[in-house]
Amino acid sequence: MKRTHHCNELRPEHIGQTVTLTGWVHSRRDLGGVIFLDIRDREGRTQTVFDPSDLSPEVFKTAEGLRSECVVEVLGKVSLRPVGSSNSKISTGEIEVHATGINVLNRAEVLPFPVDDPEVTARVNEELRLQYRYLDLRRPEMIRNLRLRSKVATATRNFLDEQGFLEVETPTLFKSTPEGAREFIVPCRLSPGQFYALPQSPQQFKQILMVSGVERYFQLARCYRDEDLRADRQPEFTQVDLEMSFIEREDIYALIEGLLKRVWKTALNQDIPTPFKRLSFFEALNRYGIDKPDTRFEMELVDFTEEFRTSTFKVFGGTVAAGGVVKALNAKGMAGATQGQLETMTEYAKSFGAKGLAFIKVENGEWKSPIVKFFTETEKAALQAKLAIQEGDLILFAADQWLNACEILGKIRLYCAEVLKAQGKLTLPTDRFDFLWVVDFPLLSFDKEQNRWYSSHHPFTAPVAEDIPLLTSDPKKVRGQHYDIVVNGVELGGGSIRIHQPDVQRTVFEEVLQIPPDETNLRFGYMLEAFKYGTPPHGGIALGFDRLCAILCGTTSIRDVIAFPKTAKGTCLMTDSPGPVAAKQLRDLHIEVKAAKKP
Ligand code: ASP
Repeated sequence: MKRTHHCNELRPEHIGQTVTLTGWVHSRRDLGGVIFLDIRDREGRTQTVFDPSDLSPEVFKTAEGLRSECVVEVLGKVSLRPVGSSNSKISTGEIEVHATGINVLNRAEVLPFPVDDPEVTARVNEELRLQYRYLDLRRPEMIRNLRLRSKVATATRNFLDEQGFLEVETPTLFKSTPEGAREFIVPCRLSPGQFYALPQSPQQFKQILMVSGVERYFQLARCYRDEDLRADRQPEFTQVDLEMSFIEREDIYALIEGLLKRVWKTALNQDIPTPFKRLSFFEALNRYGIDKPDTRFEMELVDFTEEFRTSTFKVFGGTVAAGGVVKALNAKGMAGATQGQLETMTEYAKSFGAKGLAFIKVENGEWKSPIVKFFTETEKAALQAKLAIQEGDLILFAADQWLNACEILGKIRLYCAEVLKAQGKLTLPTDRFDFLWVVDFPLLSFDKEQNRWYSSHHPFTAPVAEDIPLLTSDPKKVRGQHYDIVVNGVELGGGSIRIHQPDVQRTVFEEVLQIPPDETNLRFGYMLEAFKYGTPPHGGIALGFDRLCAILCGTTSIRDVIAFPKTAKGTCLMTDSPGPVAAKQLRDLHIEVKAAKKP
């Protein structure tokens, strides 16, 4: 390559040098017969000038005939830009290259959307961007994201290598273990009627690696979950997955705090304070109504169960009598909430089975609400004191069983924060990161419909040692050794100390989760067998790598940090996948397709 410098390299100290730049024509301006071509490469942009008075007519004509995104090589001399024309927005803004020659390396047709103007691209339909992803990725913002992702991956590898971790690749052709999310399955030509499954995570392999004595394993692991996709989900995604032997929860906390410290320093040059705060699962729900609270703002849930125990307002008094709770939050400055906003909040309450949503608007010195007339002076005084009620406040209530009440108000809390942000009443600095460990989860949750216990995390999570005897006698009381790492209300990852005793693991599968023994053997037999031969105590965690990168890039969509993401329907618009396969391929795989063909 004849390129002498990249497009973000030339500065006043290069003035007078003859250089060769290569890249794409980012923009072309024609000013008084002189042509300005901004040349862009991965690193940045440099302005080149084609002045007909000191150029051969052919060179000038070539420059004149170019359109945006043609690929060129420009030869020229570095000069200081004339007084008043430097551009402080780009690092090469003080200089320009006076062209003496140009080679067109390739031409470009008119692009389906421009890549040189972030404001215009922001209005481009995302489907079009995904269809032409290669052009979308040319945008400097997208290159920046890919670069940051790459740096974070390198920082992660370096840090874990320094900590003695081995990077081990585990299979992506795995077997079906229908626990948790739905799986993608892969037919197997050599074993007719048999299928692989793509792993939801390397969980089982990484535990087996502990049995093997690897002691410290990590992987930037691709994982697959065939779920109905929500805004921030992808059918395939990447985890920073790790596992360690001979450790306790504290070791994982310290390791991940160190890792995130390194990552934040590398990516944002920011020193994040450690250790991180810790909150129990109970406290997270009780105070914020969610197990991944955004603690950058308060608006906490306040309990009024005792105050309304004997209330004549039936909705409250009755709920408490039935073992429920009354909770409230104060949305400061939201008394002016519109009917539409109140309806949205009421819908949240109803989605949890509530009949409606009780509220008080504090306006013109008055408590406006259909329910205030039922409150005694003492009840009102309690509300006033515990919620520090002031003019302009909106008080919202939930009266229900504890978990429901918490979850209703938790949703409402986040909704109110969005409204207040939009109104400029709540500002969350973009460089503020509130890290939090959520700990002390119950090992098991009860599924009322199926009338059985299921793992709050996954079936390999260890109970707190002294709770092991409760597994069969009082499952509800068993505390799990599970932890989640949360930042600004986003779950960044989770993990646990694992069960390493084969008998405890079998009890969990068969007696607690009620998986029949033959099924346990079919699905997890090899693990139970492995555990018999000297398994060290171990534990680990997985961080969502796409989510981590999205947070660092300041974007809310993980699609912005994945080179080739899929749509919410799980399709790739660029390659048009999934797609049909030839009849012969299906025959070889012993598969017959009965569903309607893709139109
Ligand atoms: N395998 C778990 C997950 O994917 C993480 C872990 O427990 O390490 O969520």
